[in-house]
Amino acid sequence: MTRYVFITGGVVSSLGKGLASASLGALLQARGYRVRLRKLDPYLNVDPGTMSPTQHGEVYVTDDGAETDLDLGHYERFTGVPARKSDNVTTGRIYTDVIEKERRGDYLGATVQVIPHVTDAIKEFVVRDVTDEDFVLCEIGGTVGDIESLPFLEAIRQLGNELGTEQSMFIHLTLVPYLKSAGELKTKPTQHSVKELQSVGIQPDMILCRCEQDIPAGERKKIGLFCNVPVDNVISAPDVGTIYEVPISYHERGLDRQLAKHFRLASTVIDLDLSRWSDIVDRVKNPEGEVTIAVVGKYTNLLDSYKSLAEALDHGGIANNVRVNMNWIDSEIFESEDAVHYLSDVEGILVPGGFGERGAEGKIAAAKFAREHNVPYFGICFGMQMAVIETARSLAGIEKAGSTEFGECDEAIVGLMTEWVRGNKLERRGAGDNLGGTMRLGAYDCMLVDGSLVRSIYAEKQISERHRHRFEVNINYKQRLEEAGVVFSGLSPDGVLPEIVELPSHPWYVGVQFHPELKSKPFDPHPLFESFIGAAVQHSRLV
Ligand code: GLN
Repeated sequence: MTRYVFITGGVVSSLGKGLASASLGALLQARGYRVRLRKLDPYLNVDPGTMSPTQHGEVYVTDDGAETDLDLGHYERFTGVPARKSDNVTTGRIYTDVIEKERRGDYLGATVQVIPHVTDAIKEFVVRDVTDEDFVLCEIGGTVGDIESLPFLEAIRQLGNELGTEQSMFIHLTLVPYLKSAGELKTKPTQHSVKELQSVGIQPDMILCRCEQDIPAGERKKIGLFCNVPVDNVISAPDVGTIYEVPISYHERGLDRQLAKHFRLASTVIDLDLSRWSDIVDRVKNPEGEVTIAVVGKYTNLLDSYKSLAEALDHGGIANNVRVNMNWIDSEIFESEDAVHYLSDVEGILVPGGFGERGAEGKIAAAKFAREHNVPYFGICFGMQMAVIETARSLAGIEKAGSTEFGECDEAIVGLMTEWVRGNKLERRGAGDNLGGTMRLGAYDCMLVDGSLVRSIYAEKQISERHRHRFEVNINYKQRLEEAGVVFSGLSPDGVLPEIVELPSHPWYVGVQFHPELKSKPFDPHPLFESFIGAAVQHSRLV
């Protein structure tokens, strides 16, 4: 039997509902259960692929090629369960499906309405593709009280009724602010938020209260009383030093025990082995050293836009027992100022994924600085493309090297990709295609060249990594670039798409067309990040 846990949020956004859901998933796994995590997003975009990362944070790409909400990244990092297309849905997607069905005449003359047609589509999504999972944790984006969330709340209310309490549970995450001037924790916002939830017919079974500090029994009792929830099910969720502490903190405060009670699971109080998490926390809190990595990008004003990247760098640090300080630098700076001012004291330079011409020359300058000064360089997707342009200009003498992403150019080292092979199928795209969902997305295989750096880092011949790009390094320049010292060390299995480049003459200089950060986990750091941070540690010893 699959049980469903619905997680809603109240009072304010950004409380860390995604992390809370991911941590609950990790605890249930530690109890031996199979879990799947899903997210319902109440905005009208069909997926977040067309949204600016500065507004909505990074786009998390799944193996099966979906562009999803960044919370799916938390889910995957905390549980190790690969997220799928069917784990994230938006209002836009639901309405598109309903309207397409209406146009086909599938509703047989019915008046198509939010209830039941939209809510039915949401319910179908929640239970779709569930096979042997013991638990499906379903997070509802946004904050209770938003107009947009209503159809989702109505759908989960209905589902809760249909499934019954033995198969469903509602958890509400709220904020209990501490008022310094009064010296008090305030429970009123939580009371109001729960009332809001009750007004749409949902009685939470458990309230998870985010707070700067632990919430004493007195306040928890008060919340329980006003919100109609047993005091043991009012769980304090205080701020912690590192996100990897969250599962431990929740367990200590009874989250999984109370959930087990709710579902009448065989064993409620058990000695959970959370050593996987305490080991990580220990490493994060007691590093043996530190390195500083400059991340030269475009969306540096909202760190959520590079969420997985920051996490993967941390994982690289965990693997090397060092703390990784990240210097987020807007690449445009290097277009007017000399890179040396900003990059001379860092132990590694990373240029992440990105789109568009703005700041591109600055990224090229950063790659050049790293190459000339033997600073470890890691180029990811756009960061690889810019590195190839830089080496083409500086090493191969192709002065006009550029990318057609920025308009027509004489030497299109990076050009629009129009066809590529997926499995046995050829995928085709044209320059005038829609922007949404039309990139080369998801997991593709890559063959590594024997004797290369990446071949030894991965210790495998064939790898699979996730992609999200529309442009590619032009294979026709391979020979000229290789003659200039750039090695194409990873290629698509048909040998047509360059996937990895490296510079053997440099201590650590790797550019990858894919996004390795998406698959890194705290307990299983990605080999490229482990190796890159290792090289940064080496570099710090040299200077
Ligand atoms: N803009 C580049 C492309 O579409 C790189 C994309 C990325 O960095 N994810 O190919």
